[in-house]
Amino acid sequence: MRIGVIGAGQLGQMLGFAAAELELDCEFLDPSDSPPAADCGHVIRAPFDSHTALETLAANCDIITYEFENVPVEALTAIDKQVPIYPPPEALKHAQDRLAEKELFESLDIPLPRYAVIDSRDDIDKAIDALGLPIVIKTRRFGYDGKGQFVLREASQADEAWQAVGNSALIAEQWVPFDFEVSVIGVRSKAGEVAVYPLTRNEHRNGILHTSCAPVEAPALSSLGGSYVQSLLEHLDYVGVLALELFVADGRLLANEFAPRVHNSGHWTIEGAETSQFANHLLAICGRQPGSTAVRGHAGMLNLIGEIPPAARRLPQGELHDYGKTARPGRKLGHITVVADTAVERDRLLADIEQSVTQSS
Ligand code: AMP
Repeated sequence: MRIGVIGAGQLGQMLGFAAAELELDCEFLDPSDSPPAADCGHVIRAPFDSHTALETLAANCDIITYEFENVPVEALTAIDKQVPIYPPPEALKHAQDRLAEKELFESLDIPLPRYAVIDSRDDIDKAIDALGLPIVIKTRRFGYDGKGQFVLREASQADEAWQAVGNSALIAEQWVPFDFEVSVIGVRSKAGEVAVYPLTRNEHRNGILHTSCAPVEAPALSSLGGSYVQSLLEHLDYVGVLALELFVADGRLLANEFAPRVHNSGHWTIEGAETSQFANHLLAICGRQPGSTAVRGHAGMLNLIGEIPPAARRLPQGELHDYGKTARPGRKLGHITVVADTAVERDRLLADIEQSVTQSS
């Protein structure tokens, strides 16, 4: 079976490695010169919305999936009669617009931070009145890793915020004084079987994921998070892997956003779970039953951003994943995963690795 993957970044690369183990072929579509997934299959070098390129990918492949969520939905609907597309483009539609995403959460009774729609400069003042300060103003579309966001701590910053992001459709959210952030990754097969990985604790720096650790030992939160993912998967008649990111505040879960794809906070599953998120995504979209999402221990992942310091290549413990990308500030270039028998040991290993990697950079 041949899988067409839109996007050939590191997520495509890790899908490609998992596909090879499952004896599946991959072909990719990506405009960049030397994308990471070029190691794993032929790459059609064209823009994501090129009809000709998408038609060629559809003609060459049995199934289409995507590893990148800004694929134009219209471009996908143009080929969905030709070949099955999983996850369903309907999921992509919700994930691409923060307002549609929040309305979806509300319709499924998934709690979320209070928010307001911003269509004008005056709406910022109204949002401050309604939500209190601080608020974070976010572009509704094409924001990722904290981009397209403005944190407004004082009412006097409203003009500055409008100048910075006012040329796009916006929403404002209450600033959540969270205790920590988590994600839940789930997978649903064509037959409707659902499997959910244990809750993952995430730390972001400058809006970019820094570390992920799993499992979070909080059974009540874990099962609540799992139930939210299950209702999203079922409502969207979803096939494949989906990641839901949430805040934990005062013992409550508040949904931030979901990604209709494999996710950075699930990279630990390669070494730390019985079946990785990449293998499970492929199994689901190929019509097979998802594999076990049970953990193999206590896993931790550290993202390598901007550079891969020399120490990262000489670690006594920890698995380095180098995506083969050119170094650039703020760019995700690789990650390191550790798996230990206890959470304490995992935290110690991760802290040691972080320290040696930081010192050698
Ligand atoms: P996002 O692009 O929405 O995932 O935001 C990136 C990161 O910014 C999140 O993972 C949080 O660390 C932080 N953040 C975003 N929205 C909020 C919020 N409403 N309250 C507190 N922190 C936030």
